[in-house]
Amino acid sequence: MRALCWMGAGELAVRQLPDPELRNAHDAIVRVRRSAACAADLALLAGRGPAVGEVLGHEFVGEVVEVGPEVRRHRAGDRVVVCSSVSCGSCWYCRRELHSCCDNGSTDPAAGEAAWGHPVAGCFGQPRSQGGFAGSHAEYVRVPYADVGAFAVPEPVSDDRALFASDAAPAGWMGADLGGVRPGDVVAVWGAGAVGQVAARAARLLGAERVVVVDRHPDRLRAAERHAGAETLDYRRVDVAAELRERSGGRGPDVCVDAVGTPAATRSLGDRLTGAAPRPAAVREAVHACRKGGSVVVLGAHPGVVDTFPLGAVTAKGLTVRGARQHGPRYIPMLLDRMARDELRTEYLATHHLPLDRAPEAYTLLRTRAEGCLRPVLHPTPAPC
Ligand SMILES: [Zn+2]
Ligand SMILES: [Zn+2]
Repeated sequence: MRALCWMGAGELAVRQLPDPELRNAHDAIVRVRRSAACAADLALLAGRGPAVGEVLGHEFVGEVVEVGPEVRRHRAGDRVVVCSSVSCGSCWYCRRELHSCCDNGSTDPAAGEAAWGHPVAGCFGQPRSQGGFAGSHAEYVRVPYADVGAFAVPEPVSDDRALFASDAAPAGWMGADLGGVRPGDVVAVWGAGAVGQVAARAARLLGAERVVVVDRHPDRLRAAERHAGAETLDYRRVDVAAELRERSGGRGPDVCVDAVGTPAATRSLGDRLTGAAPRPAAVREAVHACRKGGSVVVLGAHPGVVDTFPLGAVTAKGLTVRGARQHGPRYIPMLLDRMARDELRTEYLATHHLPLDRAPEAYTLLRTRAEGCLRPVLHPTPAPC
């Protein structure tokens, strides 16, 4: 099969690889119909990648072509969306719906322990500390624990809508959920990428009175207004904290969601030369702007250690700070239901469609945010007519 491989810092190549095979009774093999490029991959391109030659990609929808003998919920021919993270469904954490904390989701638990003190769930197309599973920018993917991570797509939901139930939609929804958004709340979301867009829409659906999305790309902000029902702020033009206070009765937002992470650009040359940790600009602003007693939810991709975190404000203002990678299986059935009912329309996040062979171009679009790019979508195999 053809697949997009990570070849070392900054380098990508479409290669011919052997087709994946069933290795475990709970596996399925899925033929990929759509695979989206996610901004979290940009950190891998910058150098923190998987092993050279590994396949990238973790957000996908496809068709089951083969299942192991223990797979009960799927059979060949089913159209499925697959959760980007890999969890077992039966450990102490999975039973409590903390799927991204799964004890058995990684092929290399020692790497997770070394990085974070505990192993965490795996993820397709990521380094070994997060599983070491081959990714979805390929014609076929091996899906471990298929009964836990793969979900049948309801008939009326298109591939382009269902695709985002894999990664962006559960992550964004989780932001509103962990923040405890209640009717009447004012919610601020930093980052108008795909995850921020869904976090804003989720906050509206959960009853938030005002949702304000903060970004600097005009076309992304327009998309948040049009599709998520949000107000917007361009952080280059206004004092964000003052403007948010103004829009929330002088208090500050009840819930603040970081859907930005730590961009490499927040490290000055001096920081890089001295090895200082990067600074999480959006989280700092969120902690500063949040009302006293409010919640800050961290969804963005961050390195292991960051610098200049305003810990004093967390205690002084009585904030609740929560974070997670996505607990996908907790949310995906509900999200597919809402997609089928037309409450949640995510196809607009697929701003560009490219064949797999043009995958390197997709990452350039994503990195430069050119042409209003939210998520470029790769088509490894043409969908049957
Ligand atoms: Zn992602
Ligand atoms: Zn588990």
